[in-house]
Amino acid sequence: MEIRVQMVFEGLFALEELREIYRHALPTGLDADEEAQYDAKIVEIEAIVADLKAGTGQPKVAKIAGAIDLRTREEQAINIQPIQAAGRLTLEARKAVISYGDGYSTCDACRKPFRLDKICKPPIASFHQELAAFLNLDQARVVPGARRGFQAVTASLVQKGDPVIVSALAHYTEFLAVEQAGGVVREVPLSPGNVVTADATAMKIEDVVRETGRTPALVMIDHYDYQFANEHDVKGIAKVAHQYDIPFLYNGAYTVGVMPVDGKAIGADFVVGSGHKSMAAPAPSGVLATTDEYAPQVFRTTGMVGDVTSRKFGIKEVEMLGCTLMGANLIAMMASFPAVRERTRHWSEEVERSNFFIGRLLAIEGSRVLSEYPRKHTLTKVDTTGSFDTVAKTHKRRGFYFSDELSSRGIVGEFAGATRTWKLNTYGLSWKQVRYLADTFIEVAEKYRIPITFQ
Ligand SMILES: *Cc1c(COP(=O)(O)O)cnc(C)c1O
Repeated sequence: MEIRVQMVFEGLFALEELREIYRHALPTGLDADEEAQYDAKIVEIEAIVADLKAGTGQPKVAKIAGAIDLRTREEQAINIQPIQAAGRLTLEARKAVISYGDGYSTCDACRKPFRLDKICKPPIASFHQELAAFLNLDQARVVPGARRGFQAVTASLVQKGDPVIVSALAHYTEFLAVEQAGGVVREVPLSPGNVVTADATAMKIEDVVRETGRTPALVMIDHYDYQFANEHDVKGIAKVAHQYDIPFLYNGAYTVGVMPVDGKAIGADFVVGSGHKSMAAPAPSGVLATTDEYAPQVFRTTGMVGDVTSRKFGIKEVEMLGCTLMGANLIAMMASFPAVRERTRHWSEEVERSNFFIGRLLAIEGSRVLSEYPRKHTLTKVDTTGSFDTVAKTHKRRGFYFSDELSSRGIVGEFAGATRTWKLNTYGLSWKQVRYLADTFIEVAEKYRIPITFQ
């Protein structure tokens, strides 16, 4: 590890140790003992700063709490891990994590009616309004992950035995949300090119109605799926769903927070996004937005009365279990939000860099793209059976040679050992980084004499 990265972490930890002194002191100030600890810690920090200046240092901290490694992959490498790219925290979010890490830290100024989305300080209530506006729907709630958004919707709309339309590329969490509600998933088969079309969705609905005598309770489709990140016709599918009077849930796990999403224009009754996948927020976090039409159902408030105490908790929302993201997760999500909103306006540049990289990869003979091409997304499934895998056959490290070559050049996040079909995500990389990434792949190909043909 670059010694300065190590020393940055040591400096951060030393500053936390300085902070810790205040957490044990009286509000009136430090006593003599604590002042001495303070001075001693400052000396340590000065030594760290001197090391940072000189680029020297002896690593002292290897683990957190004796067991947990420092995580420095974002500082030391280019990370192309498919699900991590757009969940990297912004600088402001990391500051929020430092400041709001304590348990119920969001609740300092919680006042009647005691609900997370009503808190004004920090500005959680207005954040909820901004989220709804961002997705162009009427109301929004934060949830612990996209999956919890699906769950809130299925729990309120799906009755036992109800069919729910998903796609043949649906995420496992959609299956589970339907299963938990007692529903049954019915998959729309894929059309040529691995896309989900409105026609295929209509046909599936017809089939399900004919076979079961029941109209599906919900249609739930990913705008970009997790396997290929192909684009699916969500607008056409929403229209079809509405022709059968079925509500439509737009799964934006791979879109909300990276590209513009307009719930009304799509015709979505629900928009679900993932904070940790695409909104530069810590896990778990996410968003569920809906219309004024469906809000009373999905955000219904409790009617339960205690039989002994007659207690009621009127304003608490059942599907949210009252409050959802309490603490650093929400505040970090909020801290990232201005940058996230801004970055969605630059999605086309992200796609351009994605296509630049894939173009270079395709120059390495035998490489193929399994996702639609040209790319419309930064997540891509590639097939290197005809290129990098040909080397794995005879290499003593097998497929691991490839991850070895990449990681020794500072590229991480490809599935270790995979040289046939695998996924990568270039989201968030600058031109400088994406060029380095492309050059690295070319360099590894040259090293193993895989032919390269630039178009
Ligand atoms: C990642 C993903 C999910 C799950 O998101 P969480 O926020 O982790 O719950 C759901 N659907 C799709 C298509 C995904 O890619």
